[in-house]
Amino acid sequence: MREKIIAGNWKMNKTVPEALSLVQEIKIKLTRSDYKVVVIPPFTALYSVGGAISGSPIKLGAQNVFWEDAGAYTGEISPVMLADLGVEYVIVGHSERRKYFGETDEMINKKLKAVLAHNMTPILCVGESLEDREAGRTINVITAQLKAALDGIPFVDIENIVIAYEPLWAIGTGKTATPIQAQTVHAFIREELNTLYGNNMGDKVTILYGGSVKPDNAADLTGMPDVDGALVGGASLKAESFLGIINNAK
Ligand code: PEP
Repeated sequence: MREKIIAGNWKMNKTVPEALSLVQEIKIKLTRSDYKVVVIPPFTALYSVGGAISGSPIKLGAQNVFWEDAGAYTGEISPVMLADLGVEYVIVGHSERRKYFGETDEMINKKLKAVLAHNMTPILCVGESLEDREAGRTINVITAQLKAALDGIPFVDIENIVIAYEPLWAIGTGKTATPIQAQTVHAFIREELNTLYGNNMGDKVTILYGGSVKPDNAADLTGMPDVDGALVGGASLKAESFLGIINNAK
């Protein structure tokens, strides 16, 4: 059974007191248990938020990671450090990291392997730009990103990866992919996993949609057969809207 997940990526927002106040409210008001709920605060709040959700069903995620375990890499955070804090999910290859920090497919591949090696679950982000979509290149872009990110990852690990389809033109823009647009790409990703790995692998991997998910579009998007949940940015910064998405998810 594929896991259903609603994950909130807080990006570069929330001081420690703000993060604690948000997560406490989510914890107190969360009633639903069929979706796994993951909060993904900035690194500086991981320890405190991890403590606040301890013993609750809410899981902890991180927004990024470096691929080495330790060493002279000023400013980086290793998978060992994340695992030590109780992090279970790590976003890898978010489009903002690709765009602003020059993350390449090769780096994303190394990060993916590092996260898996430390028994955490990567949330691998893929998605096309508006230009690619308008030029009819969506499927080519997604295929290339998937192949490069998954290069050399053994069959047994693929089921432990979560994929997030996040069209760049829908992230933080208020412009959401229609449920049909999301479903079409999700179904394609499953086909591609079947081609690459056989054994119906496409049916076994959790695939989330991300891009301006809000309480009022969550039901339609998650109602699509190949959409297993959502990776939420802006709307995860307030308990009311994040819980609204969780409660409305199909
Ligand atoms: C994201 O950054 O992963 C995201 C989906 O952001 P937003 O929900 O704000 O579009």
